[in-house]
Amino acid sequence: MTTSDADQCAPSGQPLLSVEQGRQRIIDAVQAIEATERLALLEAIDRILAEPVISAIDVPPFANSAMDGYALRAGDCSDAAVRLTVIGESFAGRPFEGRVGDGQCVRIMTGAVMPAGADTVIMQEHVSRTGDSIGITRQPRSGENVRLAGEDTRRGDRVLATGTRLGAAEAGLLASVGVAEVQVRRRVQAAFFSTGDELTAVGTPLAPGQIYDSNRYTLYTLLSRAGVVCHDLGVVADDRDAVRSAFRRAGEIADLVVTSGGVSVGEADYVTETLRELGEIDFWRMAMKPGKPLAFGRLQRAWFFGLPGNPVSVMATFYQFVLPAIRKLQGETPRPPLVLQARCTEPLRKSRGRMEFQRGILCQDAQGEWTVASTGKQGSHLLSSMSRANCFILLTAESAGAEAGDLVSVQPFCDFA
Ligand code: AMP
Ligand code: MG
Repeated sequence: MTTSDADQCAPSGQPLLSVEQGRQRIIDAVQAIEATERLALLEAIDRILAEPVISAIDVPPFANSAMDGYALRAGDCSDAAVRLTVIGESFAGRPFEGRVGDGQCVRIMTGAVMPAGADTVIMQEHVSRTGDSIGITRQPRSGENVRLAGEDTRRGDRVLATGTRLGAAEAGLLASVGVAEVQVRRRVQAAFFSTGDELTAVGTPLAPGQIYDSNRYTLYTLLSRAGVVCHDLGVVADDRDAVRSAFRRAGEIADLVVTSGGVSVGEADYVTETLRELGEIDFWRMAMKPGKPLAFGRLQRAWFFGLPGNPVSVMATFYQFVLPAIRKLQGETPRPPLVLQARCTEPLRKSRGRMEFQRGILCQDAQGEWTVASTGKQGSHLLSSMSRANCFILLTAESAGAEAGDLVSVQPFCDFA
């Protein structure tokens, strides 16, 4: 009997919870960590803003040229045969100090201050220069190639809102308004460990009946990418006391505890039982595949996620439940999930009852339509299917699969970045 068969027959007294219900319960329960700290901009990458940032300056701070060319008055160019006298130069960081009058122009480079009196920049490609004068080969539009002061951000604008995660654009945006330090939420402390007597750490030869512990590597990557501080508590044996002591240690140091394995109803599955004993359990059975047994609750001040042991189940349940919880703990403003409709290129098998997260390969066909193919076998032990996939194919609990040509919902993995 497989674990999941055993689980199906088990007298649990608890109905299966839908994915939506489970996620909602988690989101409702978890509260953001309020503590904040002030950090230099480069220290704050991937952190969540704890207060809005208001700009003290206009960006750009002054009107400047979008092109290399000549700054002039558009009104002077109504006559195609006009010649303008070049009276100076404006380079980025080295402005022209004078004023452009009738019949005059200034050589100007991209990013250089627009000289007083000029209203337009003509590209150098549309000019013929002889000595100190230019002729125009194409009539400029008034205001062309001029970037206005404050066009990007105005003084007093709210540049970023509380709850924003600081990525590349945000880091640059803050620097562009001259912000050197920001107030951000403190980082979430996460403890994680694998459970299982069969697990061997990489770097050691495999004894008969042993497998390598892959989940800890997956979890470390998932957690660190989510921006939390990782405390690796290693591999814990399927032994009541060992599991208890790992729980105690995790509860002491963490805001979030994530474990893998030991949540089924096998004889050596101690995670659910220990959570009940040392913490509080909210639920542990989900109507999803992979990932049916999943323990959620509290362990001291930490939120506890006991993920199943199968490697694909670890990733699916992490993305659907742990990641939204982390984002909420971090204080990030919620964002709607990225779900697309794609035409499936082959039949997808499924039985009714549980929502499935099948592994798919999403791409655009020659007509630009999104299509999705299955990665093949869908066993929750087939981690290579996650590596080949770039999306989950979302099949609702009621769905009985799909035919080739049907539209199905897909969630690209980039949504989890
Ligand atoms: P469990 O949830 O403990 O019953 O484990 C379910 C399946 O996942 C079993 O085949 C385990 O051997 C496997 N498994 C559990 N933990 C890990 C791990 N850390 N790395 C790889 N496979 C695991
Ligand atoms: Mg196990």
